[in-house]
Amino acid sequence: MATSSRPHTVSRPQNLWHTPGVPSFLEDLYRGTFRWDLIHPFPVQDGADQQAGDRVLAAFGALLRERVDPTEVDVSQRLPTGLLDALVAGGYTRLQADPELGGLGLSSMNTFRIVQAAASWSMPVAQLLSVQNTIGVGSYLPALPPGPLRDTISARVRGGVISGNADTEPAGAANRRRMTIATPIEGGAAYLLNGQKVFTGNGPVAGMVNVTATVQGPDRDRVRVFFVDTSSPGFSVSAHHEFMGLKGFPAGALTFDNVRVPAELVMVEEEHNRRLTPELSRLIIRGRVHTIAGPSLAFGKLCLHWSREFANRRQVDDRPLGSFEEIQRMVSATLSEVFALETLAQWCLLGEDARDGERAVNLRYEQVAAKNLSSMTCWRMVDRTMSLLGAEGYESAQSKARRGAQPLPVERAFREARGLRISGGVDFQIDNWTSQVGIFWCYYPEPENARAIESEQVDVSCLDDADLTEPNLDHLRFTAHQVKAFARTCLALARRHPDPQELFAQEHLLIQLNQVASELLLMSLVLARTSRYGRLGPDSTQELADLYCAAARRRIDDLWRRITVEQPGEHASASAAWLAGDRWAHLMSDVLTETPPTAS
Ligand SMILES: Cc1cc2nc3c(=O)[nH]c(=O)nc-3n(C[C@H](O)[C@H](O)[C@H](O)COP(=O)(O)OP(=O)(O)OC[C@H]3O[C@@H](n4cnc5c(N)ncnc54)[C@H](O)[C@@H]3O)c2cc1C
Repeated sequence: MATSSRPHTVSRPQNLWHTPGVPSFLEDLYRGTFRWDLIHPFPVQDGADQQAGDRVLAAFGALLRERVDPTEVDVSQRLPTGLLDALVAGGYTRLQADPELGGLGLSSMNTFRIVQAAASWSMPVAQLLSVQNTIGVGSYLPALPPGPLRDTISARVRGGVISGNADTEPAGAANRRRMTIATPIEGGAAYLLNGQKVFTGNGPVAGMVNVTATVQGPDRDRVRVFFVDTSSPGFSVSAHHEFMGLKGFPAGALTFDNVRVPAELVMVEEEHNRRLTPELSRLIIRGRVHTIAGPSLAFGKLCLHWSREFANRRQVDDRPLGSFEEIQRMVSATLSEVFALETLAQWCLLGEDARDGERAVNLRYEQVAAKNLSSMTCWRMVDRTMSLLGAEGYESAQSKARRGAQPLPVERAFREARGLRISGGVDFQIDNWTSQVGIFWCYYPEPENARAIESEQVDVSCLDDADLTEPNLDHLRFTAHQVKAFARTCLALARRHPDPQELFAQEHLLIQLNQVASELLLMSLVLARTSRYGRLGPDSTQELADLYCAAARRRIDDLWRRITVEQPGEHASASAAWLAGDRWAHLMSDVLTETPPTAS
């Protein structure tokens, strides 16, 4: 890769993930510094906190089993009557809120465990709870200063309000501009909201929604968050969404027709020029660990369980299915991926619960990475398990029940898992954004450690205190070297493209680079956690780490091959010709392309 050493003069874009003075393992990884000391010894959940979580989980599990028939919810597309009230009464809609507000005061890790448990039983319930607890109105409380907004939200939380976050609009969430407009009235004492939102989780059952809207100003437009009481005149639920999965989850299109919002119910935040406000952005990043990584891990664990159930009862020509080499590879791959996702969730959340005196680390970068790492890994696990179960995997649970077969709901999990790659942001676009905002933020302007990045020396002191088997030590050595190679590639790219926009036009390259960084992140975490458990004894996870890292290395090798070898290709001209309708009409021969009539 040719390089020039021209210094960069470009000013940095805004990066809300960076916290000055607080170290971040992944941010340093982007810069080519492998901070093993930040992740090792790997954190564990505090014993008392774990027990507090166990108690809530026991009661919550009982409520789920008693009140929710997950297959019936999926088929009827409706949550059981009275379930919402039961969830509110049990405090499950206020998992982290102060007990004084009727909340359970749970830690982030225990909140995750509740969402995971819900997803393992009924994904619509999990989605309702995770939206409510992580991006609903109550989640803003820690960021609100004393005043009328805080008082109003506190009162609504105390009253058991259900809420959701209305951001996506029909034109598409990726647009920087929000078409919902807030117009100041009454000399600035209130705003009139006009616009439409789509896919708002909990929208149809919410008493309050937080809505992003554009306030047009004399100098420039600003996006702000408005807290809207859904009993306000002009608010309506204009449609109920039905998804491939999540049947029964209340998601709706919301219309705001001259809805009056008092000025004190608008969150005024620091200046920003992004499509999401800083606080909403922070909540969504952490929230996705619950809404996406929680169900991803739950489905992975179910896949492990289902694989065992099926493989142990199935034979091929009198030979147990579990004795075939390929099946063993499939089961062990899922096993190692469940271990990896559990590790990722722990890393992303245990630090959130760190007490005074414990070392502060910035987890935002890892929380961003968790979205794709977990949903894509989940997708691999569910897809693999569906193949393992053959036709029984593809058949619905109710169909199996009708013929007396074991009704494992693999087909339902498959439908749910696909949505995890879309809700909260489409997978490839998250990679693309992360590369721009996270990785290359470190390279424009050129980083101070550019010379260290260029040097051939790799710090492998991590090997000294790692309690790992030889294969895992080799994975750790590989990771340390790869972190350096990764940074060298980024530095060379940034130098070759002094104007970042020129580099950012190469989206495919950026996406693949982010995938390399994410793979390196999860390998590091898996090795750090494994080192904590040691090499001996029943808790040792050395085999799982080796399995996971070996597979991750194959993916990394493949990504590098594509990054360095792939040629520009014909994608631009071929897709432009097709989209314009200019060429290859014969490829549509013999298919009926008109949209079929669909009853609404
Ligand atoms: C189950 C579910 C629950 C949801 N819950 C909520 C909720 O509670 N609140 C809420 O506000 N929203 C919610 N959403 C919406 C969700 O966040 C969006 O669907 C998601 O962010 C993608 O946005 P979009 O569908 O508007 O697609 P768009 O943003 O319009 O994107 C369309 C396509 O363009 C691609 N694209 C965009 N920019 C680029 C680019 N620069 N280069 C290349 N490709 C690009 C995207 O990746 C995508 O493939 C939910 C969605 C689902 C499926």
